[in-house]
Formats: sequence, structure tokens, C-alpha cells
Amino acid sequence: MNKQKLFISLLIVSVLIIAALPFPDFWIVQLNYIGLYALVSLGLVLLTGVGGLTSFGQAAFVGIGAYTTAWLTLNLGISPWITVMIGFGLTALSALVVGVITLRMSGHYLPLATIAWGLSLYYLMGNLDALGKYDGLLGIESLSIGNVDIGQGRLFFVLTWAILISSAIALLNLLDSRPGRAIRSIKGGSLMAEAMGINTFRYKVTIFLIAALLASVAGWLMAHFQRTVNPSAFGLKMGIEYLFMAVIGGVGYVWGAIVGAGLVKLLDDYLQIALPALIGTSGSYEVIVFGIAIVLVLKYLPDGIWSLVARKVPRPPRRIDWHDAKPLSARTKPAKGELVLKVDRIGKQFGGLTAVNDISFDIHSGQIVGLIGPNGAGKSTSFNLITGVMPKTKGQVFFRGQDISALPSREISRQGMARTFQHVKMINDMTVLENVALGAYTRGRCGVIASMFRTNKKEEQRFMKEAQQQLERIGMGEYLHELAGNLAMGPQRLMEIARALCCDPMLLLLDEPAAGLRHKEKQELIKILRQLKNEGMSIFLVEHDMDLVMDVCDHLVVMEFGNLLMQGTPSEVQASPAVRAAYLGMEH
Ligand code: ADP
Ligand code: MG
Repeated sequence: MNKQKLFISLLIVSVLIIAALPFPDFWIVQLNYIGLYALVSLGLVLLTGVGGLTSFGQAAFVGIGAYTTAWLTLNLGISPWITVMIGFGLTALSALVVGVITLRMSGHYLPLATIAWGLSLYYLMGNLDALGKYDGLLGIESLSIGNVDIGQGRLFFVLTWAILISSAIALLNLLDSRPGRAIRSIKGGSLMAEAMGINTFRYKVTIFLIAALLASVAGWLMAHFQRTVNPSAFGLKMGIEYLFMAVIGGVGYVWGAIVGAGLVKLLDDYLQIALPALIGTSGSYEVIVFGIAIVLVLKYLPDGIWSLVARKVPRPPRRIDWHDAKPLSARTKPAKGELVLKVDRIGKQFGGLTAVNDISFDIHSGQIVGLIGPNGAGKSTSFNLITGVMPKTKGQVFFRGQDISALPSREISRQGMARTFQHVKMINDMTVLENVALGAYTRGRCGVIASMFRTNKKEEQRFMKEAQQQLERIGMGEYLHELAGNLAMGPQRLMEIARALCCDPMLLLLDEPAAGLRHKEKQELIKILRQLKNEGMSIFLVEHDMDLVMDVCDHLVVMEFGNLLMQGTPSEVQASPAVRAAYLGMEH
């Protein structure tokens, strides 16, 4: 049994023991609130900790869940077991609307938008006659199954914590899966994820939705537990407090949500009694203490309290046995010599600057084509135009005869063009194997639900087998379970190549693969490029290192000031006075 499973079992056993022992009722009430709050901050772990999207508006989703069930049970007499579903529906609808509008915003705009959303829902709840204005709704029924009241005391405690623990397990399962790897790749910016064929916007909306649903179920439970709802529990202050909980507990950790909710709830209660006594007047001084606490935590323990535990007990590496897995389906590769890529007079204008001017060249199957030129010649820009990262001002690109000029990078990658990055882009806290498996994203289908319920096991085995094979293909077989963040530059670059190979590409695009490599590592890279070529791979590389380019390339394209200076074999390029002049000119 691994440590994760042991911890979950201990947690479940503790819940049952606490429910069975004669603890004071007040303790159980506290634990009920902690469970409810933890459900909300669990959503924030996924949204903010993993996805990097900050929301102050979670309390509003709690409110939607609570008010939906309150109003429907009171006015229409609908069973709470049905209203929870209706609450989900309304929450999902509002989360989709809010998400689609706000999640395209960058930087600080998203948190601001969630504040606006939280505030407006608070005032809406407080001003609708049907919802009882600021007094709220009273006399909501308790939850029951048959004649058994499970909405109070110990049974409610077991219910809440059962929902909490199952949600935590579902999230852990999700994070360790195809969509989970995609979600974990969002935080580093969408460039890499999109290049792996991932629709990052869709995943942002998805985690926003999951977080909102967790908040909604907490609201449903809360309404029936308190038997009353009013807007104050769903305002901005609570929205901020939920974020406090997630951050203090450790916003990157699923279990941090419970620790944070527990601490904040207990501290909150304590301070509300202790502070007025200390200061001599009453008031919400606990907010100030929380403010100071959050600054201290962010400064001295930025990953939250759970990171102390996680450091001691690192996440166990994925140890599923995949050796009998069937290989992922592969594309039929082009015949040797077939025209793979045709770049036709592409151009890019940045304001008055022509960064790329009428560049054309072809890549045939099994060829290594290099793009070289002095600094500022327009190599990176050309690379971005071809890979769909940047829109072209003019020109067209054909991949195996098909016009891909207008496709976004994720569609281009789906067609079979895989790339690496000049500045390595990886997920530091994922193993090398998982990072590489991300490259196979488009070759699988299992989604969020399948991953939460672990019905994705067969596909995961196939992913891991593929990732292992690609790593072995480039001689990185002994790094499988190493954390990517611990690798040196050389292995990092090779890992990116393995990740690109996982996409089963027909054309491999490498952006300065030798940058930052030591001599021996460069030799290794040259060997790998040759080997891939012998296996039939077509490769396009932008590279500074002349020795490497002259050594491995079949064909060179030379750029200067955005223009095509010449193209030809390495020896033709080396013999060209124009090329010499261009490079000498740069050096002096
Ligand atoms: P290289 O990769 O060959 O060193 P680049 O393609 O990065 O060259 O840049 C070509 C020219 O375009 C340079 O003059 C650079 O300053 C300019 N450039 C590149 N990206 C941008 C951008 N996003 N906005 C404006 N100018 C840019
Ligand atoms: Mg460049």
C-alpha cells in the first residue's frame, strides 16, 4: 500500500472513530463546518493551486447551491435529493457563463472579475424579495433518508466528510491522468500546452466548473444543516476567506484544503472571542490577523502548511504496470523523399519592421533542414509562423499538401508536427515520464469523468508505455521517475525531444536544441538526430551552433535581416562569401 492510500485509509478510519466516540456535540459541529469549508477550498486547490487561476468568487457559487435548494424545498416542496441536481445545473450554467466571459482575461483581470461577480451575486441575493432579502430564508428541512435524519450531528458529519474525501480522491485521480496533465500544464502559460494539442481554454473552463460544483454541493449541505440561508455567508468576505484557507493549507495540495479549512475555522472562532477581550471593543478584528497571517505564510511558506508534509513524504512515482499495454495507434508515415513541408513566401511585419520577408523552402521526408542566420535575422519568428504560434502577415504553409496557414498551433500539432522550445517548457513537479506522456495527449481520449473514476487505466498504461519507449529511444531510460525539475539542461532538452516524439510526429521542429549544452551533450544530441533521421524522421531545426548544423543538416536555409540570404547543402553554404560576410559583419 503506498503512502497516499495509507493516509486516505487513516482519514476514513478517523472519521468513523470520531463519529462513534462521545465527543461533545460542539466539536462535531466544528468538524462539520470544517468539512463544508474544505469542500470549497478543494475547488480552489484545483483552480488556483494547480490551474493558476485566482477566484474570490467561490462563496457566490456556495450561495447558488444553498439558495437553490432552500427556495425549491420551501416553495415547491421538492426533495433535497433532487434540488442538489438542480443546484448543480444552475451552478454549471452560471459558471459556464462567467467562465467563458472572464477566463480569457489575463493577469489581474480574472481575480477582479471574480470579485465583481461575487459582489453582484451577493447584492442580488440580498435584494430579491423571493429570497427573503438580507434576512434570507428560514425553516429549511433537514436532510433525511426515509425517516432517518442525517442532516444534523454525527450522521451529517459522516455524510459531509464522505463527500469531501471522495471529492479529494476524485481530484487526485484526475490530476494523475491525461486531462490532469493537461490541467497541470496550464499554469506555465498556454504556449507549451497548446503545442501539445491541448485546448487550454477548454480546460480553464472545466476546472472553473469543477470548483464551482464543489462549492455548490457545500452550499446545498450548508443550507440543510443550518436550516436557514442568508446572504452574509456568501459574500465577498467569505470568498476571500475560502482563498485564505486554500493558501494557508497549501494551494497546490489536495489535502492542504482540509488543513487550511480547519485552521482558519478554529482560528476564526478563537479570535472572535479573544480579540475583543484583548482590545476591549468588539469588531471584526480577526480579518486583520488573517491579513497578517496570509502575508507571513506567503513570505515564509509560500506553498502552504501541507508543503511541509509533502516535502517529507514526496508523491510516490507512478508505479502502474504497463508492460503488457497495447501500443497507442500510430500514423502512417510519409514515404522517404515525399514533400512534407512547403513554406511558401511567408512574411511577418511588426509595425514598421519586416522581421520575415518572403521566405520559402521545402522539407522532404527523411531530411534534416536547418535554419540559420545571425541574431535578429528572423529565425524564431519564422519558426513561430510555421508552428502557428503567431499569425502570418503573408504567405502560406503546406503540410503534406494541406494548407495549414490559418491553423492554431494545437491543430498543427494534431496533424503531426511536434516541436520543442528554445527555453525548455516543462512541468517541474511532474516526473520525466509524466512530462513526456503529455506529448501523447492527442493520441488518447479519456476525459475528466473517466479519470476521476479511474476507468482510464488501460489508456494510462498505453501512455506510460509510449513515454517510456520514447525516452529509451533517445537514451533517457534511466530517468523515468526523476522529477523533471531536477534535471540538468542537457537531459531537459532531450526530454523535450522525447515529449515531441510521443506525439507520433511526421515532422519534428526543434528550436535551438543545442543552446546551453556542453560539448559532450552536443555530441549526444547529434547522435540522436542522426538516429532519428535514419529511422525516417523529418526534422527542421533553428540553431546557432554552426558545428552542429554543418554536421547533421542535409539542407540549410540562411536568413539575414528577415530575408533569405541563400539555401543549399552545408558545404555550399560554407563556401558562400555572402554567408561569411553576414556572420563576420555580426561579429565585428
Ligand atoms: P532570431 O531568432 O533570428 O534571432 P527573431 O525572429 O527573434 O530573430 O527577430 C527578428 C526581428 O524581429 C528582430 O529585429 C526582433 O527584434 C523583431 N521581433 C521579434 N519578435 C518581435 C515582436 N513580438 N514584436 C516586435 N518585434 C519583434
Ligand atoms: Mg531566436
